Amino acid sequence: MGIATVYRNIKSLVEEEILQEVLLPGDNPRFEIAGHKHHHHFQCTQCQRVFDVHACPGDMSRLAPKGFTVENHDLTLYGNCKDCAAGAAT
Ligand SMILES: [Zn+2]
Ligand SMILES: [Zn+2]
Repeated sequence: MGIATVYRNIKSLVEEEILQEVLLPGDNPRFEIAGHKHHHHFQCTQCQRVFDVHACPGDMSRLAPKGFTVENHDLTLYGNCKDCAAGAAT
């Protein structure tokens, strides 16, 4: 399969909402299986790996300007993963 075919396949999976595009600033788009529970991401600034974070600060409606309605939110934490934090400690 050529890369164009692969890309087309991914695109149709996204359209069918089987895959979900995850866009992080300064990074290539990633894809993950859609429909799993609301979660967030942690990106390691050392090794650039992205981890799932299964915790949520909850309702952020109060952060929105007055009169605005929040439907969803997206949250990415940045820092060092366990492996890199261990390496940095030396
Ligand atoms: Zn790391
Ligand atoms: Zn959340």
